[in-house]
Amino acid sequence: MGRERTLAIIKPDAVKQRAMGPILQRYEEEGFRIVEMKLARLTKAEAETFYAVHRARPFFQSLISFMISGPVVVVLLEGERAVERHRTLMGATDPAKAAEGTLRKRYGKSIEENAVHGSDSEATAKDEIAFFFGAAAVSP
Ligand code: GDP
Repeated sequence: MGRERTLAIIKPDAVKQRAMGPILQRYEEEGFRIVEMKLARLTKAEAETFYAVHRARPFFQSLISFMISGPVVVVLLEGERAVERHRTLMGATDPAKAAEGTLRKRYGKSIEENAVHGSDSEATAKDEIAFFFGAAAVSP
């Protein structure tokens, strides 16, 4: 327990619909500290490495194409139980099944174009933070 860090990505669909501001504002309102942040266009290789765990899934190529279709905002968040609290704030993978008030319910368009990414465990968060911001950024 205690303060920890997690990785968020505001995905291309959310950036395109000009939701990066509202989503960042929501992070601040929910008590997260934004430690690092960058607007980036992922390369195909970066997206494939980041989502390597899904390589065998039928939607993998579509997911990669989507993730490189426009700029994303990669955000390093810190707070109490940040991984779990950010997952709750995001909502279910499929926006149609996401709870009211969640980011995916508000901004997601489909199970693929679902507005935000968030690390799904503390171990994954460490890997994802190191991938984008270096090993020194992993711990508070
Ligand atoms: P998450 O942890 O809630 O983001 O969900 P997953 O780790 O299972 O999937 C990673 C990402 O792949 C999701 O956020 C979606 O963008 C995409 N995705 C997941 N399931 C599907 C699917 O069934 N079809 C498509 N096209 N994309 C999917």
